[in-house]
Amino acid sequence: MKAKNASCSFCGRKKDETLMLISGLEAHICEQCADQAHKIVEQELGFGKTETEKELADTAAFTLPRPDEIKKYLDQYVIGQDEAKKVLSVSVYNHYKRVLHPQEADEVELEKSNILMVGETGTGKTLLARSLAKYLNVPFCIADATVLTEAGYVGDDVESILSRLLQVANYDAAAAEKGIIYLDEIDKISRKGDNPSITRDVSGEGVQQGLLKILEGTVANVAPEGGRKHPEQKYVKIDTRNILFICGGAFDGIEKIISRRIQSRAVGFKNGERSEVAKQDVLRHISPADLKKFGLIPEIIGRLPIITSLEPLDKEALRRILTEPKNALIKQYEKLFGMENISLQIDKEVIDFIVEQAHDNQLGARGLRGICEAILLDYMYDAPVKKGNNKKLKITLQDAQDKWERNKKIFKAA
Ligand code: ADP
Repeated sequence: MKAKNASCSFCGRKKDETLMLISGLEAHICEQCADQAHKIVEQELGFGKTETEKELADTAAFTLPRPDEIKKYLDQYVIGQDEAKKVLSVSVYNHYKRVLHPQEADEVELEKSNILMVGETGTGKTLLARSLAKYLNVPFCIADATVLTEAGYVGDDVESILSRLLQVANYDAAAAEKGIIYLDEIDKISRKGDNPSITRDVSGEGVQQGLLKILEGTVANVAPEGGRKHPEQKYVKIDTRNILFICGGAFDGIEKIISRRIQSRAVGFKNGERSEVAKQDVLRHISPADLKKFGLIPEIIGRLPIITSLEPLDKEALRRILTEPKNALIKQYEKLFGMENISLQIDKEVIDFIVEQAHDNQLGARGLRGICEAILLDYMYDAPVKKGNNKKLKITLQDAQDKWERNKKIFKAA
Protein backbone atom coordinates (compact mmCIF):
# COMPACT_ATOMS: atom_id res chain seq x y z
CA MET A 1 0.00 0.00 0.00
CA LYS A 2 1.48 3.34 -1.02
CA ALA A 3 0.35 6.19 1.11
CA LYS A 4 0.84 9.58 -0.51
CA ASN A 5 2.95 10.82 2.36
CA ALA A 6 5.02 7.64 2.57
CA SER A 7 8.73 7.98 3.21
CA CYS A 8 11.78 5.74 3.10
CA SER A 9 11.94 3.74 6.30
CA PHE A 10 15.74 3.85 6.18
CA CYS A 11 16.72 7.42 5.35
CA GLY A 12 13.41 9.14 5.97
CA ARG A 13 13.23 10.90 2.57
CA LYS A 14 9.67 11.67 1.48
CA LYS A 15 8.27 9.93 -1.62
CA ASP A 16 8.47 13.05 -3.77
CA GLU A 17 12.14 13.49 -2.85
CA THR A 18 12.98 10.07 -4.24
CA LEU A 19 13.19 8.67 -7.76
CA MET A 20 11.56 5.50 -6.62
CA LEU A 21 10.05 4.25 -3.41
CA ILE A 22 9.58 0.49 -3.09
CA SER A 23 6.94 -0.61 -0.61
CA GLY A 24 7.04 -3.66 1.60
CA LEU A 25 4.39 -4.86 4.03
CA GLU A 26 4.99 -2.19 6.60
CA ALA A 27 7.99 -0.28 5.33
CA HIS A 28 9.37 1.46 2.26
CA ILE A 29 12.80 1.77 0.75
CA CYS A 30 14.11 4.41 -1.69
CA GLU A 31 16.39 3.74 -4.64
CA GLN A 32 19.43 5.09 -2.84
CA CYS A 33 18.97 2.94 0.24
CA ALA A 34 18.19 -0.10 -1.92
CA ASP A 35 21.46 0.47 -3.79
CA GLN A 36 23.32 0.83 -0.50
CA ALA A 37 21.73 -2.37 0.81
CA HIS A 38 22.75 -4.20 -2.36
CA LYS A 39 26.35 -3.14 -1.88
CA ILE A 40 26.35 -4.39 1.71
CA VAL A 41 24.95 -7.75 0.63
CA GLU A 42 27.60 -7.99 -2.11
CA GLN A 43 30.37 -7.23 0.32
CA GLU A 44 29.22 -9.49 3.11
CA LEU A 45 28.05 -12.49 1.13
CA GLY A 46 30.19 -12.30 -1.99
CA PHE A 47 27.15 -11.96 -4.28
CA GLY A 48 27.94 -10.44 -7.64
CA LYS A 49 31.54 -11.65 -7.54
CA THR A 50 32.89 -13.94 -10.20
CA GLU A 51 33.34 -17.59 -9.31
CA THR A 52 37.09 -17.10 -9.05
CA GLU A 53 36.77 -14.14 -6.74
CA LYS A 54 34.40 -16.11 -4.56
CA GLU A 55 36.73 -19.06 -4.67
CA LEU A 56 39.71 -16.94 -3.71
CA ALA A 57 37.74 -15.13 -1.02
CA ASP A 58 36.49 -18.46 0.32
CA THR A 59 39.91 -19.98 0.36
CA ALA A 60 41.44 -16.89 1.93
CA ALA A 61 40.75 -17.72 5.51
CA PHE A 62 41.32 -21.43 5.22
CA THR A 63 43.60 -22.64 2.53
CA LEU A 64 46.18 -20.05 1.55
CA PRO A 65 49.09 -22.41 2.09
CA ARG A 66 51.70 -21.39 4.62
CA PRO A 67 55.26 -20.69 3.45
CA ASP A 68 56.48 -24.04 4.81
CA GLU A 69 53.71 -25.84 2.89
CA ILE A 70 54.57 -24.00 -0.30
CA LYS A 71 58.23 -24.92 0.09
CA LYS A 72 57.38 -28.55 0.75
CA TYR A 73 55.42 -28.63 -2.48
CA LEU A 74 58.30 -27.05 -4.40
CA ASP A 75 60.67 -29.63 -2.90
CA GLN A 76 58.79 -32.36 -4.77
CA TYR A 77 59.58 -30.81 -8.13
CA VAL A 78 62.66 -28.67 -7.74
CA ILE A 79 66.00 -30.06 -6.60
CA GLY A 80 68.21 -27.87 -4.41
CA GLN A 81 67.76 -24.08 -4.62
CA ASP A 82 66.71 -24.03 -0.98
CA GLU A 83 67.33 -20.36 -0.49
CA ALA A 84 65.32 -19.36 -3.56
CA LYS A 85 62.48 -21.69 -2.56
CA LYS A 86 62.29 -20.15 0.88
CA VAL A 87 62.34 -16.60 -0.43
CA LEU A 88 59.69 -17.43 -3.03
CA SER A 89 57.45 -19.24 -0.54
CA VAL A 90 57.43 -16.29 1.83
CA SER A 91 56.96 -13.65 -0.85
CA VAL A 92 54.19 -15.52 -2.61
CA TYR A 93 52.45 -16.10 0.72
CA ASN A 94 52.70 -12.41 1.56
CA HIS A 95 51.52 -11.44 -1.89
CA TYR A 96 48.32 -13.48 -1.68
CA LYS A 97 47.73 -12.42 1.91
CA ARG A 98 47.74 -8.87 0.63
CA VAL A 99 45.46 -9.76 -2.30
CA LEU A 100 42.97 -11.67 -0.21
CA HIS A 101 42.57 -9.09 2.50
CA PRO A 102 41.26 -5.88 0.99
CA GLN A 103 42.82 -2.97 2.79
CA GLU A 104 41.07 -0.11 4.50
CA ALA A 105 42.13 3.37 3.48
CA ASP A 106 43.72 4.26 6.80
CA GLU A 107 45.64 1.01 7.20
CA VAL A 108 49.37 0.50 6.72
CA GLU A 109 49.59 -0.10 3.01
CA LEU A 110 51.12 -3.38 1.94
CA GLU A 111 53.08 -2.75 -1.22
CA LYS A 112 53.20 -5.14 -4.09
CA SER A 113 56.40 -7.14 -4.09
CA ASN A 114 57.39 -8.59 -7.42
CA ILE A 115 60.30 -11.00 -7.45
CA LEU A 116 63.56 -11.20 -9.38
CA MET A 117 65.37 -14.51 -9.76
CA VAL A 118 68.96 -14.40 -10.91
CA GLY A 119 70.68 -17.58 -12.03
CA GLU A 120 72.27 -19.36 -14.95
CA THR A 121 70.11 -20.88 -17.63
CA GLY A 122 68.59 -24.26 -16.80
CA THR A 123 68.82 -23.92 -13.03
CA GLY A 124 65.08 -24.07 -12.42
CA LYS A 125 63.80 -20.48 -12.53
CA THR A 126 60.89 -21.21 -14.85
CA LEU A 127 60.18 -24.48 -13.09
CA LEU A 128 59.91 -22.68 -9.74
CA ALA A 129 57.48 -20.08 -11.08
CA ARG A 130 55.41 -22.68 -12.90
CA SER A 131 55.24 -24.97 -9.87
CA LEU A 132 54.12 -22.12 -7.64
CA ALA A 133 51.27 -21.20 -9.96
CA LYS A 134 50.24 -24.83 -10.27
CA TYR A 135 50.12 -25.28 -6.52
CA LEU A 136 48.13 -22.11 -5.94
CA ASN A 137 45.89 -22.90 -8.89
CA VAL A 138 46.11 -19.42 -10.37
CA PRO A 139 46.45 -18.46 -14.05
CA PHE A 140 50.07 -18.50 -15.14
CA CYS A 141 51.93 -17.54 -18.28
CA ILE A 142 55.51 -17.17 -19.40
CA ALA A 143 56.63 -14.19 -21.40
CA ASP A 144 59.98 -13.46 -22.94
CA ALA A 145 61.21 -9.94 -22.38
CA THR A 146 63.40 -10.06 -25.48
CA VAL A 147 60.44 -10.06 -27.88
CA LEU A 148 58.89 -6.98 -26.29
CA THR A 149 59.20 -3.60 -27.95
CA GLU A 150 57.89 -0.17 -27.18
CA ALA A 151 54.29 0.45 -28.19
CA GLY A 152 54.18 1.58 -31.81
CA TYR A 153 57.19 -0.44 -32.91
CA VAL A 154 57.23 -3.78 -34.69
CA GLY A 155 56.94 -6.58 -32.15
CA ASP A 156 54.81 -7.29 -29.09
CA ASP A 157 54.08 -4.40 -26.77
CA VAL A 158 54.11 -5.05 -23.04
CA GLU A 159 50.33 -5.41 -22.88
CA SER A 160 50.58 -8.52 -25.05
CA ILE A 161 51.79 -10.31 -21.92
CA LEU A 162 48.47 -9.53 -20.28
CA SER A 163 46.58 -10.86 -23.34
CA ARG A 164 48.29 -14.16 -22.84
CA LEU A 165 47.39 -14.29 -19.16
CA LEU A 166 43.78 -13.44 -20.02
CA GLN A 167 43.69 -16.29 -22.53
CA VAL A 168 45.07 -18.74 -19.97
CA ALA A 169 42.40 -17.55 -17.54
CA ASN A 170 39.70 -18.40 -20.09
CA TYR A 171 38.99 -14.72 -20.58
CA ASP A 172 37.96 -14.33 -16.95
CA ALA A 173 39.50 -10.93 -16.22
CA ALA A 174 39.02 -11.24 -12.45
CA ALA A 175 40.94 -14.54 -12.43
CA ALA A 176 43.71 -13.11 -14.61
CA GLU A 177 44.05 -10.20 -12.20
CA LYS A 178 45.24 -12.64 -9.53
CA GLY A 179 47.57 -14.60 -11.73
CA ILE A 180 51.33 -14.99 -11.94
CA ILE A 181 53.46 -13.91 -14.91
CA TYR A 182 56.95 -15.26 -15.34
CA LEU A 183 58.95 -12.76 -17.33
CA ASP A 184 62.04 -14.46 -18.64
CA GLU A 185 65.29 -12.89 -19.86
CA ILE A 186 64.72 -9.59 -18.11
CA ASP A 187 68.50 -9.11 -18.23
CA LYS A 188 68.38 -8.91 -22.02
CA ILE A 189 66.54 -5.60 -22.03
CA SER A 190 69.24 -3.81 -20.11
CA ARG A 191 70.46 -0.62 -21.59
CA LYS A 192 74.01 -0.66 -22.67
CA GLY A 193 76.00 0.79 -19.84
CA ASP A 194 75.12 2.67 -16.71
CA ASN A 195 74.28 6.00 -18.37
CA PRO A 196 70.79 6.97 -19.47
CA SER A 197 70.66 6.88 -23.24
CA ILE A 198 70.19 10.02 -25.25
CA THR A 199 68.90 8.30 -28.34
CA ARG A 200 65.80 6.16 -28.20
CA ASP A 201 66.55 2.58 -27.41
CA VAL A 202 63.69 0.50 -28.81
CA SER A 203 64.59 -2.83 -27.33
CA GLY A 204 66.05 -1.79 -24.00
CA GLU A 205 65.19 1.23 -21.96
CA GLY A 206 61.91 1.95 -23.76
CA VAL A 207 60.61 -1.52 -22.91
CA GLN A 208 61.71 -1.12 -19.32
CA GLN A 209 59.69 2.09 -19.15
CA GLY A 210 56.67 0.25 -20.57
CA LEU A 211 57.08 -2.57 -18.10
CA LEU A 212 57.25 -0.21 -15.15
CA LYS A 213 53.57 0.57 -15.20
CA ILE A 214 52.30 -2.97 -15.34
CA LEU A 215 54.79 -4.13 -12.73
CA GLU A 216 53.64 -1.44 -10.37
CA GLY A 217 49.93 -1.72 -10.99
CA THR A 218 47.86 -0.05 -13.64
CA VAL A 219 44.61 -0.59 -15.47
CA ALA A 220 45.63 -1.67 -18.94
CA ASN A 221 43.52 -1.99 -22.06
CA VAL A 222 44.14 -5.49 -23.27
CA ALA A 223 43.30 -6.95 -26.66
CA PRO A 224 41.72 -10.30 -25.75
CA GLU A 225 43.03 -12.07 -28.83
CA GLY A 226 46.49 -10.59 -28.52
CA GLY A 227 48.37 -9.34 -31.56
CA ARG A 228 48.32 -5.81 -32.88
CA LYS A 229 45.87 -3.35 -31.48
CA HIS A 230 43.43 -1.86 -33.93
CA PRO A 231 40.74 0.74 -33.35
CA GLU A 232 37.68 -1.49 -33.87
CA GLN A 233 38.86 -4.06 -31.41
CA LYS A 234 37.12 -4.35 -28.05
CA TYR A 235 39.48 -4.14 -25.11
CA VAL A 236 39.26 -5.78 -21.74
CA LYS A 237 40.43 -3.74 -18.79
CA ILE A 238 42.93 -5.58 -16.65
CA ASP A 239 44.09 -4.19 -13.34
CA THR A 240 47.64 -5.40 -12.77
CA ARG A 241 47.82 -4.35 -9.12
CA ASN A 242 47.44 -7.90 -7.87
CA ILE A 243 49.25 -9.75 -10.63
CA LEU A 244 52.49 -11.18 -9.31
CA PHE A 245 55.44 -10.72 -11.64
CA ILE A 246 58.32 -13.10 -11.21
CA CYS A 247 61.20 -12.01 -13.39
CA GLY A 248 64.18 -14.14 -14.26
CA GLY A 249 67.49 -13.73 -15.96
CA ALA A 250 71.00 -15.17 -16.17
CA PHE A 251 72.67 -11.73 -15.91
CA ASP A 252 75.82 -13.09 -17.53
CA GLY A 253 78.87 -11.35 -16.15
CA ILE A 254 77.17 -9.83 -13.12
CA GLU A 255 79.46 -11.89 -10.84
CA LYS A 256 82.28 -9.59 -11.88
CA ILE A 257 80.32 -6.51 -10.86
CA ILE A 258 79.40 -8.11 -7.54
CA SER A 259 82.95 -9.30 -6.79
CA ARG A 260 84.35 -5.89 -7.53
CA ARG A 261 81.91 -4.31 -5.10
CA ILE A 262 82.40 -6.90 -2.38
CA GLN A 263 86.16 -6.72 -2.61
CA SER A 264 86.19 -2.96 -2.64
CA ARG A 265 84.51 -3.14 0.74
CA ALA A 266 87.39 -5.38 1.82
CA VAL A 267 85.00 -8.12 2.81
CA GLY A 268 86.82 -11.35 2.25
CA PHE A 269 89.88 -10.61 4.34
CA LYS A 270 90.37 -13.32 6.86
CA ASN A 271 93.34 -13.51 9.19
CA GLY A 272 95.03 -10.96 7.03
CA GLU A 273 94.58 -13.06 3.89
CA ARG A 274 92.18 -12.35 1.13
CA SER A 275 89.79 -15.25 0.92
CA GLU A 276 88.37 -16.02 -2.47
CA VAL A 277 84.61 -15.94 -2.55
CA ALA A 278 83.69 -18.98 -4.58
CA LYS A 279 82.05 -18.07 -7.88
CA GLN A 280 78.71 -19.63 -7.02
CA ASP A 281 78.66 -17.79 -3.72
CA VAL A 282 79.16 -14.44 -5.38
CA LEU A 283 75.64 -14.33 -6.80
CA ARG A 284 74.18 -14.62 -3.31
CA HIS A 285 75.56 -11.17 -2.57
CA ILE A 286 73.71 -9.54 -5.45
CA SER A 287 72.33 -6.13 -4.62
CA PRO A 288 70.20 -3.50 -6.39
CA ALA A 289 73.39 -1.50 -7.04
CA ASP A 290 74.79 -4.41 -9.09
CA LEU A 291 71.62 -4.63 -11.14
CA LYS A 292 71.84 -0.92 -11.87
CA LYS A 293 75.44 -1.28 -12.97
CA PHE A 294 74.38 -4.17 -15.17
CA GLY A 295 71.89 -1.91 -16.94
CA LEU A 296 68.47 -2.21 -15.34
CA ILE A 297 66.93 1.21 -14.78
CA PRO A 298 66.52 2.12 -11.10
CA GLU A 299 62.72 2.33 -11.41
CA ILE A 300 62.50 -1.29 -12.57
CA ILE A 301 64.80 -2.38 -9.77
CA GLY A 302 62.51 -0.55 -7.37
CA ARG A 303 59.53 -2.60 -8.62
CA LEU A 304 61.40 -5.84 -7.99
CA PRO A 305 62.12 -5.56 -4.28
CA ILE A 306 62.60 -9.29 -3.69
CA ILE A 307 65.82 -10.53 -5.24
CA THR A 308 66.96 -14.10 -4.98
CA SER A 309 69.68 -16.09 -6.67
CA LEU A 310 69.85 -19.66 -7.92
CA GLU A 311 72.92 -21.83 -7.65
CA PRO A 312 74.55 -23.40 -10.67
CA LEU A 313 73.74 -27.13 -10.68
CA ASP A 314 76.63 -29.45 -9.90
CA LYS A 315 76.79 -33.06 -11.06
CA GLU A 316 75.13 -34.36 -7.93
CA ALA A 317 72.18 -31.99 -8.44
CA LEU A 318 71.89 -33.03 -12.09
CA ARG A 319 71.84 -36.69 -11.07
CA ARG A 320 69.10 -36.03 -8.56
CA ILE A 321 67.10 -34.03 -11.12
CA LEU A 322 67.21 -37.01 -13.47
CA THR A 323 65.83 -39.45 -10.95
CA GLU A 324 64.21 -37.82 -7.91
CA PRO A 325 61.51 -35.22 -8.63
CA LYS A 326 57.91 -36.34 -8.89
CA ASN A 327 58.09 -36.11 -12.66
CA ALA A 328 61.80 -36.83 -13.07
CA LEU A 329 62.85 -37.54 -16.64
CA ILE A 330 63.82 -41.15 -15.95
CA LYS A 331 60.41 -41.75 -14.33
CA GLN A 332 58.76 -40.29 -17.42
CA TYR A 333 60.65 -42.62 -19.76
CA GLU A 334 59.86 -45.60 -17.54
CA LYS A 335 56.21 -44.68 -17.80
CA LEU A 336 56.36 -44.28 -21.58
CA PHE A 337 57.94 -47.71 -22.03
CA GLY A 338 55.60 -49.13 -19.39
CA MET A 339 52.71 -48.20 -21.67
CA GLU A 340 54.17 -50.65 -24.19
CA ASN A 341 54.53 -53.26 -21.46
CA ILE A 342 58.27 -52.84 -21.50
CA SER A 343 60.10 -52.39 -18.25
CA LEU A 344 62.97 -49.95 -18.78
CA GLN A 345 66.11 -50.48 -16.74
CA ILE A 346 68.84 -47.90 -16.92
CA ASP A 347 72.21 -48.78 -15.42
CA LYS A 348 73.66 -46.44 -12.83
CA GLU A 349 76.66 -45.81 -15.09
CA VAL A 350 74.28 -44.58 -17.77
CA ILE A 351 72.90 -41.99 -15.38
CA ASP A 352 76.47 -40.89 -14.62
CA PHE A 353 77.19 -40.70 -18.34
CA ILE A 354 74.13 -38.51 -19.00
CA VAL A 355 75.11 -36.22 -16.13
CA GLU A 356 78.70 -35.95 -17.43
CA GLN A 357 77.49 -34.93 -20.87
CA ALA A 358 74.98 -32.41 -19.51
CA HIS A 359 77.58 -30.92 -17.20
CA ASP A 360 80.08 -30.58 -20.01
CA ASN A 361 77.72 -28.80 -22.38
CA GLN A 362 76.86 -26.25 -19.66
CA LEU A 363 73.16 -26.14 -20.34
CA GLY A 364 72.28 -26.94 -16.77
CA ALA A 365 69.40 -29.34 -16.41
CA ARG A 366 68.14 -28.16 -19.77
CA GLY A 367 70.64 -30.45 -21.50
CA LEU A 368 69.44 -33.62 -19.77
CA ARG A 369 66.38 -34.07 -21.92
CA GLY A 370 68.20 -33.94 -25.24
CA ILE A 371 70.78 -36.46 -24.08
CA CYS A 372 68.10 -38.88 -22.87
CA GLU A 373 66.22 -38.49 -26.14
CA ALA A 374 69.37 -39.21 -28.14
CA ILE A 375 70.12 -42.34 -26.14
CA LEU A 376 66.57 -43.65 -26.18
CA LEU A 377 65.51 -42.59 -29.68
CA ASP A 378 66.10 -45.94 -31.36
CA TYR A 379 64.50 -47.87 -28.50
CA MET A 380 61.43 -45.64 -28.59
CA TYR A 381 61.26 -46.08 -32.35
CA ASP A 382 61.18 -49.83 -31.96
CA ALA A 383 59.09 -50.13 -28.80
CA PRO A 384 55.62 -50.07 -30.39
CA VAL A 385 56.72 -52.81 -32.79
CA LYS A 386 58.37 -54.93 -30.13
CA LYS A 387 55.57 -54.39 -27.62
CA GLY A 388 56.17 -57.02 -24.99
CA ASN A 389 54.58 -58.91 -22.22
CA ASN A 390 56.44 -57.43 -19.31
CA LYS A 391 59.60 -57.45 -21.39
CA LYS A 392 62.74 -55.96 -19.90
CA LEU A 393 64.82 -53.38 -21.68
CA LYS A 394 68.21 -52.89 -20.10
CA ILE A 395 70.37 -49.97 -21.17
CA THR A 396 74.07 -50.42 -20.44
CA LEU A 397 76.81 -47.83 -20.52
CA GLN A 398 78.05 -49.23 -23.84
CA ASP A 399 74.56 -48.91 -25.35
CA ALA A 400 74.26 -45.35 -24.07
CA GLN A 401 77.65 -44.30 -25.45
CA ASP A 402 76.92 -45.85 -28.86
CA LYS A 403 73.48 -44.29 -29.16
CA TRP A 404 74.72 -40.90 -27.99
CA GLU A 405 77.51 -40.91 -30.59
CA ARG A 406 75.03 -41.87 -33.25
CA ASN A 407 72.18 -39.50 -32.40
CA LYS A 408 73.71 -36.56 -30.61
CA LYS A 409 73.68 -34.38 -33.69
CA ILE A 410 69.91 -34.61 -33.86
CA PHE A 411 69.53 -33.32 -30.32
CA LYS A 412 72.40 -30.88 -30.21
CA ALA A 413 70.02 -27.97 -29.97
CA ALA A 414 67.94 -29.46 -27.19
P1 ADP B 1 65.66 -21.71 -16.32
O1 ADP B 1 64.30 -21.07 -16.35
O2 ADP B 1 66.42 -21.41 -15.08
O3 ADP B 1 66.47 -21.46 -17.55
P2 ADP B 1 64.12 -24.13 -16.34
O4 ADP B 1 63.32 -23.99 -15.11
O5 ADP B 1 63.42 -23.87 -17.64
O6 ADP B 1 65.45 -23.27 -16.28
O7 ADP B 1 64.73 -25.60 -16.38
C1 ADP B 1 65.06 -26.30 -17.57
C2 ADP B 1 64.75 -27.78 -17.41
O8 ADP B 1 65.54 -28.36 -16.38
C3 ADP B 1 63.31 -28.05 -17.02
O9 ADP B 1 62.89 -29.19 -17.70
C4 ADP B 1 63.36 -28.33 -15.55
O10 ADP B 1 62.40 -29.30 -15.25
C5 ADP B 1 64.76 -28.84 -15.30
N1 ADP B 1 65.34 -28.28 -14.07
C6 ADP B 1 66.12 -27.18 -13.98
N2 ADP B 1 66.49 -26.93 -12.72
C7 ADP B 1 65.93 -27.88 -11.97
C8 ADP B 1 65.92 -28.16 -10.56
N3 ADP B 1 66.59 -27.39 -9.69
N4 ADP B 1 65.20 -29.23 -10.15
C9 ADP B 1 64.53 -30.02 -11.04
N5 ADP B 1 64.51 -29.80 -12.35
C10 ADP B 1 65.18 -28.76 -12.84
